[in-house]
Amino acid sequence: MQAQDLQLFGAALGLSAPWRVVSVEFDAEAKRLDLRIDFERGARFSCPGCDASGLPVHDTEQKTWRHMDFFEHQAYLTARVPRVACPEHKVRLVAVPWARPRSGFTLLFEALIMAMVREMPVATLAGLISETDMRVWRVVHHYVDLAVEAQNLAPVVRVGVDETSSRRGHDYVTVFADLDERRGVFVVDGKDAETVQAFSLFLDTHGGDAAQVSEVCQDMSQAFLKGVRAHLPRARVTFDRYHVRQHLSQAVDDVRREEVKHHRELLSNTRYMWLKRPANLTGKQRDLLDELLAQPLRTVRAYTLSQQFDSFYEITDPATAEEYLRRWIVEVDTSGLEPVQKFARMLEDHWRGVIRWHHSRISNGLLEGLNSLIQAAKRRARGYRSNRNFIAMIYLIVGKLNAGPVIA
Ligand SMILES: [Zn+2]
Repeated sequence: MQAQDLQLFGAALGLSAPWRVVSVEFDAEAKRLDLRIDFERGARFSCPGCDASGLPVHDTEQKTWRHMDFFEHQAYLTARVPRVACPEHKVRLVAVPWARPRSGFTLLFEALIMAMVREMPVATLAGLISETDMRVWRVVHHYVDLAVEAQNLAPVVRVGVDETSSRRGHDYVTVFADLDERRGVFVVDGKDAETVQAFSLFLDTHGGDAAQVSEVCQDMSQAFLKGVRAHLPRARVTFDRYHVRQHLSQAVDDVRREEVKHHRELLSNTRYMWLKRPANLTGKQRDLLDELLAQPLRTVRAYTLSQQFDSFYEITDPATAEEYLRRWIVEVDTSGLEPVQKFARMLEDHWRGVIRWHHSRISNGLLEGLNSLIQAAKRRARGYRSNRNFIAMIYLIVGKLNAGPVIA
């Protein structure tokens, strides 16, 4: 290959003095392209650990990096990397401009990995680029960790917290979100009060201030409540309306499951009908529901009460809404529907946080959306081997992090 062709390859790689391409070899059979890079004789380098520059080459180590494929050829860069003897740091390998230390990939190849990993499971990506999952994960963790640490959490004042199960529900991770920025900012193992403590510490060490958090949205878990009281002392708690509603849907279903024993012909296979919003039913399902609603069933009574409960969130004046909920509970108490009455007791026990919604207007809708994304990603990934991978994936999906190498 001629000198000017080699120069062209060097320019394409963004190389500048003292680095240059000295040879290019194609192996058509192995579908492999090898670019050899070298530095100019007499070049001097800087210590990677300090400002010391103009250091002579002590010796060299040969290294190879995977680069972006060149059509169907896998491309590799190989170079003798100099070591310099720094007066302070002894003998150190110098930094090369096309790769970070200890990576077997060039920065451009890592940028490709980080762009693709948002779009597909790691196992699929690894197969596509003929690398192992492990090597891909190593790159992902490196850039996700950097981006997580680089976050500036100064603006965080309204926080959503929710747990999500990992690995078939055997253990959990908890996600904390900035509800104003609409992104996850902290993800941690577990679902206990200590997760809130860890979040509060993380805030304080990343430009934020735990004492500045004024609103928290969460499910009715005692663990989170305890954690918030202890570690986010100024925060007022709103119970997430979707979680609240889930408890009521469960109560309606409990009534149905008891009643189906006596009214099998009417109520079997109708579970979804009582749980879906009427607007989400098909025309046929709606007709069936209308028919059922005319029957003197306990399930119908429970369902009607649940529909009436929803109006609590539609009333605009907080005092009116609170009064409405009190009256609704009185009605529930005369219904004789034990599961719904149990739900009413739960509301009373969590009253301030339920009412708080009318003042804060916050919900964890963002986190619920995230949950379905994560569950889908988890299924596609055929099992995360550790929560560390799971957590990195959550940061990528909901962190809106700028995770990836900076290409000069
Ligand atoms: Zn040094």
